[in-house]
Amino acid sequence: MINLRKPKIVILGAGYGGLMTATRLQKQVGVNEADIVLVNKNDYHYETTWLHEASAGTLHHDRVRYDVREVIDTQKVEFVQATVEEIKHEENRVILDSGEISYDYLVISLGAESETFGIKGLKEYAFSIVNVNAARQIREHIEYQFATYNTEAEKKDERLTIVVGGAGFTGIEFLGELSNRIPELCKEYDVDFHKVKVICVEAAPMVLPGFDPELVNYATSYLEKKGVEFRIGTAIKEATPDGIIVAKGEDEVEEIKASTVVWAAGVRGNSVIEKSGIEAMRGRVKVNLDLRVPGKENLFIVGDCSLIINEEINRPYPPTAQIAMQQGEICARNIVALIRGKNELETFEFDNKGTVCSLGEDEAIGTAFGKKFVGAKASFLKKMIDNRALYMIGGPSLVFKKGKFNIF
Ligand code: FAD
Repeated sequence: MINLRKPKIVILGAGYGGLMTATRLQKQVGVNEADIVLVNKNDYHYETTWLHEASAGTLHHDRVRYDVREVIDTQKVEFVQATVEEIKHEENRVILDSGEISYDYLVISLGAESETFGIKGLKEYAFSIVNVNAARQIREHIEYQFATYNTEAEKKDERLTIVVGGAGFTGIEFLGELSNRIPELCKEYDVDFHKVKVICVEAAPMVLPGFDPELVNYATSYLEKKGVEFRIGTAIKEATPDGIIVAKGEDEVEEIKASTVVWAAGVRGNSVIEKSGIEAMRGRVKVNLDLRVPGKENLFIVGDCSLIINEEINRPYPPTAQIAMQQGEICARNIVALIRGKNELETFEFDNKGTVCSLGEDEAIGTAFGKKFVGAKASFLKKMIDNRALYMIGGPSLVFKKGKFNIF
């Protein structure tokens, strides 16, 4: 008997990995070949890699997001706005806040969440740069501290202290934006710039692990000149309503009073993974090279919820948009192969196009084409990378609408 039912492909999450998978599938799959459904919490996609700008207030949050339906072909992809609660992978069903959906092939691309490593008080008293809502809240909170400072008879200097936990990629990019934003806030609210403290606290003995030391030196001295104080090799022990407690020497601790604490030192895969009983390490699933979950023929994971080992150093690749997008392309091609009855699937191999870390509007450091870049050249590259990501998902019209053209 011929089975006339079309296979149903469900993609969870409209971030870099999910949208890349959806937009590639809509090009490669005929309407009669499969049904494609894309599920996302919001009706918009946000550029996660730009959230530090929205958090500092240097870029409006509406610049960071766009309607998912602008880039999907709604004739081919059905969009469902819903929150994924659990995946019943033994039954090929997904539980949503608004019902449930069954699938023949599932792609999980639900992104990352903040990892606090069990540090007391961080969840309650620190902010994390995780989505548009969080970014908007951080921006508003910082601005409120500046606005309030001069209204109080007894001045609270901690209102003007911002602690950033973590000197990795996100922490450094956020510090770069803050160093541009703070002079503006000081001007707007008549606050003396010298009263403001921006402190970066990092437990590891270095800034930007994995980056070239010369570039790291450039970044730290640039940010120090802009007023950032680095406390490297200093572990946050606790966050409190008044700031943070850090370790000082063997058994001593020190309190740093701060009205704003932003935790940017760790991410984990989406908690839906663990809730669904899929074997994972900090919410990240070690997928096969064809991007399927071991033992699961119809379950793919891309982006920050997946984990792939870099064989050169025998350590996982850090979660990046670059990897998520490359995975999305392979994942789409592998699903097309499966629905066409082919069993030979492509394997994922990371093509590292370089990494650029922004230090604010027109400063950055990075490597690309086997070369090191700093300053305006690196910043130009960063904007081109941002524009390329838009182009890959939404073509020239999206670049025109959302792209970064402030390059000279
Ligand atoms: P995301 O792009 O985060 O998308 C996940 C999607 O799933 C979102 O749309 C979200 O709303 C949705 N979702 C989540 N939970 C649910 C749910 N329960 N139900 C329904 N929908 C849900 N990487 C780089 O390569 N270069 C950079 O310069 C860079 N800079 C960064 C700067 C910052 C500030 C941050 C935070 C990250 C940066 N990264 C960078 C990392 C990069 O953003 C991530 O690796 C990338 O976003 C991962 O893509 P993804 O598709 O897995 O998840």
